[in-house]
Amino acid sequence: MQAERPLMRKDVVIIGAGAAGLMCAIEAGKRRRSVLVLDHMEKIGKKMRVSGGGRCNFTNLALQSDHYYSANPHFCKSALARFTPNDFISMLDKHGIEYVEKEKGQLFCKKNSGEIIRMLHEECSNASVEIRMNCRVGIISKNENFSIATNRGRIEAASLVIATGGLSYPELGATDIGYRIAGKFGLKVTQLRPALVPLIFRQRNREIFKELSGVSFNAFVACKGAHFRGEVLFTHRGLSGPAILQISLYWEQGEDITLNLLPDIDAYELFVSKRGSRIELSNLLSEHLPRRFSHRWCELHASSRPLCTFTEKELKHIAEQLHNWTITPEGTEGYKKAEITLGGVDTNELSSRTMEVKKVPGLYFAGEVIDVSGELGGYNLQWAWSSGFAAGQYA
Ligand SMILES: Cc1cc2nc3c(=O)[nH]c(=O)nc-3n(C[C@H](O)[C@H](O)[C@H](O)COP(=O)(O)OP(=O)(O)OC[C@H]3O[C@@H](n4cnc5c(N)ncnc54)[C@H](O)[C@@H]3O)c2cc1C
Repeated sequence: MQAERPLMRKDVVIIGAGAAGLMCAIEAGKRRRSVLVLDHMEKIGKKMRVSGGGRCNFTNLALQSDHYYSANPHFCKSALARFTPNDFISMLDKHGIEYVEKEKGQLFCKKNSGEIIRMLHEECSNASVEIRMNCRVGIISKNENFSIATNRGRIEAASLVIATGGLSYPELGATDIGYRIAGKFGLKVTQLRPALVPLIFRQRNREIFKELSGVSFNAFVACKGAHFRGEVLFTHRGLSGPAILQISLYWEQGEDITLNLLPDIDAYELFVSKRGSRIELSNLLSEHLPRRFSHRWCELHASSRPLCTFTEKELKHIAEQLHNWTITPEGTEGYKKAEITLGGVDTNELSSRTMEVKKVPGLYFAGEVIDVSGELGGYNLQWAWSSGFAAGQYA
């Protein structure tokens, strides 16, 4: 790293050319601030590109703060109210980008996420934002201005925005630099853990269910008072699918999750209605659950024999277990397969209006690096747009 004299002076330096950093750059650039975005990857928006299965679930029309998880659930409200899903949609409309609504207000690009990346790039150019890729950031210090050492020379800036995202998907550029910068300036970072992540079975269940990889069913999944209805998918090592990813926001090591395998019917009533029949239990359950799962589940929790051979007490017990199948996961698939990092820069350190650090004027955080985590369904990108927009009004 060189540190002889500043190679460049800018009003605003933004570290991270992802969703939050680019949105912030556009807004600061529109205010005629000279803006430089730094990123160590070769291309902007790597995570956006893969998001939503390549079609970028960029927002959710049912946006409410209760879809977010944070030590301070009120923190996100101000920014979300000032840059809403409709504001982002207006941007797409301006660029002629078509989108489609999927389940529960989730909006996706009709074609692919590349369109949104191109839009942000174009908006950056229009706002005279400079973007420097393949740029490694070294020591950052502050006197009157911020001094940022990089592998391509030192930069001075009046405002510094940290938009470096979370720890998930390291191959897409994730690093812990944002949390380290926070630590260097004496800011608290809440406990971090992977979230929106598949869960892993303990050894016994892993053996029993490993052949079911790819099989899915619809269930009601609960943990610590939170519950989600949706698809559950068997993987080689455990469970995934939207309902499991959602519940991973709440699950912590050692805790149970409970699945209601038959959320639309009363299992005991079903048994009573077929009581006189010689139908095998697992065959009866196969009418409501994937066949292979129903057989495996019966091997584990009830012998599969003709229904008429079960006592009433046994049927009540089986019904109870079907509505409350309890699993204690061994762990999660970790940051490698997590969509987000739960936790981040403590919101008490930041202004919810400006995203500026209260005790370090000129230093801002935006996006996932902050302790604000959204549920699945476009909420995380909306937080990136909204918090980036807020920081861009002031940085
Ligand atoms: C597979 C996957 C699918 C997802 N799908 C969706 C979805 O459909 N909808 C949704 O709302 N959310 C989705 N998310 C989450 C969403 O992508 C993130 O929450 C969002 O991108 C966060 O935006 P950000 O700008 O804060 O961080 P990021 O978009 O992660 O950007 C951070 C930037 O900082 C750069 N950076 C990191 N470290 C350094 C460093 N040391 N030096 C320089 N630069 C650095 C990175 O290269 C990156 O460009 C998904 C995530 C994943 C992993």
